[in-house]
Amino acid sequence: MSIADNLLKYKSELDNTEAELIAVSKYQEPDAIMEAYNAGQRVFGENIVQELVDKQALLPQDIEWHLIGHLQTNKVKYIAPFIKLIHSVDSLKLLIEINKQALKNKRVIDCLLQIYIADEDTKFGLGFDEAIELLRSEEFATLKNVRIVGLMGIASNNAPEKQTLDEFTELKVLFDGIKVSFFRKDDYFKEVSMGMSGDYKLAIEAGSTMVRVGSSIFGKRKIKHYKTE
Ligand SMILES: *Cc1c(COP(=O)(O)O)cnc(C)c1O
Repeated sequence: MSIADNLLKYKSELDNTEAELIAVSKYQEPDAIMEAYNAGQRVFGENIVQELVDKQALLPQDIEWHLIGHLQTNKVKYIAPFIKLIHSVDSLKLLIEINKQALKNKRVIDCLLQIYIADEDTKFGLGFDEAIELLRSEEFATLKNVRIVGLMGIASNNAPEKQTLDEFTELKVLFDGIKVSFFRKDDYFKEVSMGMSGDYKLAIEAGSTMVRVGSSIFGKRKIKHYKTE
């Protein structure tokens, strides 16, 4: 199936749900992204800052770029002028830097707190307590150029379905608790970014509002020259 066919399949599948499709284009050539763009897709997710910056310069300016991979503080400045949503905020220090760079660009940057839900120690993210501590901190209250619009999580790799569903459900429960405690009156706090090619159906069942799907739209990842951290 072509990229356009795959997108069509996701579109019809997601039509009756709350979930939006983030097309994860990491390691895909610009041509492949254009194929998706020409099929109507406008929201793309990338993992690596350099790759994202290169593609943003090259591709149509009405693309909404999301950063879904780990972000180092010293790289925030490269994406601050254009990034639509950062899914991977995992420390107050990083949020402070995003705020600073957003201010420089006279913007408010939307962010998700990445929450650690997997049963592995290789994944980035805040623990439940750490997320709440961040939101309670006096420093957080002073950050006017970032807006926390929800939470993001990555489930364990290759876990049994029941475990994956439990992990997503835990994230949704945390989201609901944080909503009531910190964002009761804030309509913008509404996103739960969870689900990838292998587990998006379970994520939607648990209440995902953004699924991040890459390989089952684009096929194998092709570009190799960008280094992960
Ligand atoms: C690569 C990646 C995805 C997409 O994964 P696929 O299995 O290709 O759908 C989603 N989220 C994050 C954080 C990723 O790094």
